[in-house]
Amino acid sequence: MKDTEKQWDFIVIGGGATGLGIAVDAASRGYGTVLLEQSDFAKATSGRSTKLVHGGVRYLQKGDVALVREALRERGYLRKNAPHLVKNQRFIIGNYKWWEKPFYTVGLTLYDMLSGTMSLGRSLPVSRKEVIRRIPQIVREKLKGGVVYHDGQFDDARLAVNLMQTAAEKGALTVNYTKVTSLLKDSEGQISGVIAEDMIGGGIFTLKGKCIINATGIFVDSIIRMDDPAEKPMVRPSQGVHLVVDSSFLGGDDAIMVPKTSDGRVMFGVPWHNRVILGTTDVPVSEFVLEPKALTEEVDFILETAGRYLIKKPQRSDVLCVFAGLRPLAAPKNHADSAKTKEISRSHKLVASASGLVTITGGKWTTYRQMAEDTVNMALKVKEMPFRPCKTRNLKIHGYMENPDMSEWIYIYGSDRQGILDLQKEKPEYAKKLHNDFDFTAGEVVWAVRKEMARTVDDVLARRVRALYLDAKASIVMAPAVAAIIASELQRDAAWEEQQVKEFTEMAKAYVLS
Ligand SMILES: Cc1cc2nc3c(=O)[nH]c(=O)nc-3n(C[C@H](O)[C@H](O)[C@H](O)COP(=O)(O)OP(=O)(O)OC[C@H]3O[C@@H](n4cnc5c(N)ncnc54)[C@H](O)[C@@H]3O)c2cc1C
Repeated sequence: MKDTEKQWDFIVIGGGATGLGIAVDAASRGYGTVLLEQSDFAKATSGRSTKLVHGGVRYLQKGDVALVREALRERGYLRKNAPHLVKNQRFIIGNYKWWEKPFYTVGLTLYDMLSGTMSLGRSLPVSRKEVIRRIPQIVREKLKGGVVYHDGQFDDARLAVNLMQTAAEKGALTVNYTKVTSLLKDSEGQISGVIAEDMIGGGIFTLKGKCIINATGIFVDSIIRMDDPAEKPMVRPSQGVHLVVDSSFLGGDDAIMVPKTSDGRVMFGVPWHNRVILGTTDVPVSEFVLEPKALTEEVDFILETAGRYLIKKPQRSDVLCVFAGLRPLAAPKNHADSAKTKEISRSHKLVASASGLVTITGGKWTTYRQMAEDTVNMALKVKEMPFRPCKTRNLKIHGYMENPDMSEWIYIYGSDRQGILDLQKEKPEYAKKLHNDFDFTAGEVVWAVRKEMARTVDDVLARRVRALYLDAKASIVMAPAVAAIIASELQRDAAWEEQQVKEFTEMAKAYVLS
C-alpha cells in the first residue's frame, strides 16, 4: 500500500467482527473500501468469544426482548449465509428443583418463538433419563429432568477470515498489520483520511477517504482521542475467561447451560472441535490490551462451577487452554453509575463526532451484520453520500457450503476444502501432520499464508487452525514446523524463524495453566 491520491469512500479502522462486517457491507454496496487492522484479523476480542451465535437467554431473563429478537434474527441470517461455520447446537439445562422445568420450558419456548421462522428447533422439557443420555457426565444427585433448546455455535476467528475474504471478493482492500496512528482533517475540521504504520515492514502511509469508521472494539477511545483529545471514554472493558478441556468432561454432543451460577451468572459447557469450552466470567478491568490474562479467581470460579454440575470434575491439570477476551461494553455516561459490568448495555452504540468520525462499539458477534448495516447507513447520512441499499442479508460468506461433513477437521474450510486437498496431493510433505494428536497439515499452513493473509506463527496456530485454543502446549510443539513453512513461503531467513518461534512460545505459555 502506498500513499495515493485515490479517495476511498470508506476507510474502516479495525479488523474484528465489527470492522470486517462493515467492510463487507460497504464493498458489497459498491463503495470503494479499505480496512486497516493493526495486528491480525480477530486477534483481539473476536477470536476469544464463547463461539455462540445466539439470542442470549440471559437477556431474556432480564426482559430485553428487542435485543433478543434482533440477535435471533441475525442468528438465522448467519446460519443461512455461512452454513459451513455455524451449526445448530442443542443445549440442555438440567433441573434440580421442582419449579425449574416449567419455568425454563416457558422461558425457552418464548425464546424459540421470538426467532419466528428462523427457529433452529423447538425448546422442550425432557426426562431425567434423557438428560443423562445426552450429557452422561451431568451430576445425577437430585436431578429431576431438564429442558432442551437450540442455538448456533461457530468458529469465530475462521468466520473473521472468511469475512475478510468476502470483503476482498466484493472489491475491498483488506490489510492486516497496519495501525492507524493519526487522523487527517481538512480546512473545515472534517476528517479526511488517516495516517497508518506498517507494523511488519515499517513505513508510514497516508490514505484519504470520505467516511472514516472507528470499529476498534475496546480500543475505540484511542481513535476518538485522535479526533478530540477532550472526549469522554465510550467503552469500559469487561474480561471474560474460558477454559478448554477434553470432550470426555461432557461425554456427549450436547452443550450444558447453567442459567444461574452461585453469583448469578450464566455458565456454558459447549462442545467445540472435539473439545469442551467452559465459561465465562465477567470482570471489570482497566487495561486495554491485545493479550489479556486470565485471573486466578476467574479460573477457580469456572473450575468450581463446572465441578458442581459435572461428575468428572475438571482440575487445573485438565485444562488444555485458558483464554481471556475483553468485551467492548458501551459505558454509561457517568462511569460511577456502574460498578458492575453486567449492568452496562450489551447492545451496540453508534455515534458520529462533529468532525465526521463514525464510531461503533459494543454489540456481539451474532449481531455484527446488523451493526455493519446501521454503521454504513449512518456514515452515508453524515457524509451526505448517495444511498445504496444494504445487500448482506442474503450474501453468502466466503467458504459457503451446505451440509459439510463435520466429522473431519477440514470441514471448517467449507468450499475451500478441495483447495487444501489439492495442495496435499501436489506435494507429499504438504499432507504431513503438524502434530500426532491433530489433523492439521503442513498444507493448511501454506494455504493460510497464500490465501488467508497469515503472516506469523500466531496467525496460523491461533486463528487459522485454532491449535493454540485447543491445546496450548501442543501448539508450542507445532511452532517450529509452522515457522519453517511460513519462512519458505515468504522468503524469510533463519533469524526470523527463530524469533517467531520464540515470540509465539512466550505468548502461548500464558494459555497454559501451570
Ligand atoms: C469472553 C467473551 C465472550 C463472548 N462470547 C460471545 C458469543 O458467544 N457470541 C457473541 O455473539 N458474542 C460474544 N462476545 C462478543 C463479541 O466477541 C464481540 O462483541 C465482538 O467480537 C467485538 O468485535 P469488534 O470487532 O468490535 O472488536 P475486536 O474484535 O476487538 O476488533 C477490534 C480490532 O481493532 C483493531 N485495532 C485497534 N486499534 C487499531 C488501530 N489504531 N489501527 C488499526 N486497527 C486497530 C484491533 O487490533 C482489533 O483487532 C463475547 C465477548 C467476550 C469478551
